[in-house]
Amino acid sequence: MPFTVPPLPYAFDALEPYIDAKTMEIHHDKHHGAYVTNLNKALEGHADLQNKTVEQLLSGLSSLPESIRTAVRNNGGGHLNHSLFWKIMKKGGGGEPGGELATAINGAFGSFAEFKAKLVDAGTKRFGSGWAWLLFRDGKLVIESSANQDNPIIDGGKAFFGVDVWEHAYYLKYQNRRPEYLEAWWNTINWAQVAENFAEAKK
Ligand code: MN
Repeated sequence: MPFTVPPLPYAFDALEPYIDAKTMEIHHDKHHGAYVTNLNKALEGHADLQNKTVEQLLSGLSSLPESIRTAVRNNGGGHLNHSLFWKIMKKGGGGEPGGELATAINGAFGSFAEFKAKLVDAGTKRFGSGWAWLLFRDGKLVIESSANQDNPIIDGGKAFFGVDVWEHAYYLKYQNRRPEYLEAWWNTINWAQVAENFAEAKK
């Protein structure tokens, strides 16, 4: 099978107390696992598509057979989004970015505090399931949210940082308190990794 779930780069309990171990286990093994299983299932019998990257599949959705387009959009998006999400967190994360990333954030949003407030707001206001993103669109650094597992790549955006606001990401610990989860989440961020992603997305 072409796609596999990347191993979590830390223990399930590494993000405690901000994200609990049980949530991480179910989220990574079961939810991300299901996206990968269903993406592979959708591509069965489509040998020409199995060699493509998930980014190629998602940026070319309209060229895919209609019978698998929605499955690839949802499950390919789920695979790409979660693969990014695990990497931008770490044990002992948090603080603020430095270097060029900090300069770019301050330039686009005024300050780190304003950036943070805007991303939390985007995640809080996303109705139902989805994500809030920091991305390049048309060469500009912007914040957006998306529904379901849609990744901004499907319409030309380059997301390099984002937060999962599906209830499965926080419900065990935070129940309906999504804003509380979104505030706590900043204590997990691996800014060195985000800076690397930023440099790559900027190219
Ligand atoms: Mn998720």
